[in-house]
Amino acid sequence: MRKRLIAGNWKMFFTPPMARKFAEEIKEKFSSPDVDTVLCVPYLAIQSVMDAFAGSNIKVGAQNMHYMDEGAYTGEISGEMLAAMGVPYVIIGHSERRERFSETDTTVNLKLLKALQHGLTPIVCVGESQRQRKENRTAAVLRKQINFALDEVKAADMSKIVIAYEPIWAIGTGDVATTEQAEEACTLIRKQVAELKGDTAAQSVRILYGGSVGPDNAKELFAQPNIDGGLVGGASTKPSFEQVVHCG
Ligand code: 13P
Repeated sequence: MRKRLIAGNWKMFFTPPMARKFAEEIKEKFSSPDVDTVLCVPYLAIQSVMDAFAGSNIKVGAQNMHYMDEGAYTGEISGEMLAAMGVPYVIIGHSERRERFSETDTTVNLKLLKALQHGLTPIVCVGESQRQRKENRTAAVLRKQINFALDEVKAADMSKIVIAYEPIWAIGTGDVATTEQAEEACTLIRKQVAELKGDTAAQSVRILYGGSVGPDNAKELFAQPNIDGGLVGGASTKPSFEQVVHCG
C-alpha cells in the first residue's frame, strides 16, 4: 500500500523570515499521520523552515540540485550539500526548469541518480505541453521523459523515487486536468515503469498529480487508483492548503 504524499512547491515565493513565520503558523495544521507532507521551499529558507517544523512530521525539500557534488559551478547547490543539511526531498526536472533554465532529459537523469546516491528522495517531474496534447503526443512525450529519467536506476530503488505528472498547461493556470486525464496519464506512467523495471517496482513508486490542485479538486484527484497524492504550487503557500492535506 502506497502512503499518500502531498508535496508543496513554494517556487520563488517567501523571504526566509516570511517562510519561517508561515511555517510556524501552519505546523500543526499541515500535519497528518496518514499523509507524508513535504514543503519544497527556496534554498535560503530551508534551514529556518526545518527549524520551524522540528517536532512535527512535515518534511522540507529543495526545488532543484546540481548533479555534481562540488566544483566550479557558480550559483549552484549540490545534492551532497542538501543531504548534509538533512533535507530529505528534492524536486528534479520541474517544467519551469526544463523550459527556462535549460534542464534536459539527460541532466534530469544525472540529478536523479545523484539524489539517490545521497539518500535524497527525488520528486521527478514529467508532463506535456498544451501543443503536445493537442497533437496527441502526450503518451509519447511521457514515455520518453520516463525512459530518460529512469535510465540506470535499479528496480529496487523505485520505491525511493516519486514521479510527479504535471501537464504544463495546467500549471498556475487554474486549468486543472480532468480526473480522467490525470488518472490516464498516471496509469500510463506506472505502466511504463513496469515495462522498464518490472511490476513490483511499478507498484512501489509513488506518482503524484500536479497542476492547479487546490481544496476544491484535491479529493477527487487523489482518490484515483494511480494518483498517490499531489505536487501543489500556489495553493501550498496559503493556509487553506490544510484542506488539501486533510482531503481524506
Ligand atoms: P500550481 O499548483 O500553482 O498550478 O503549480 C503546480 C506546480 O508547478 C507544482 O510544482
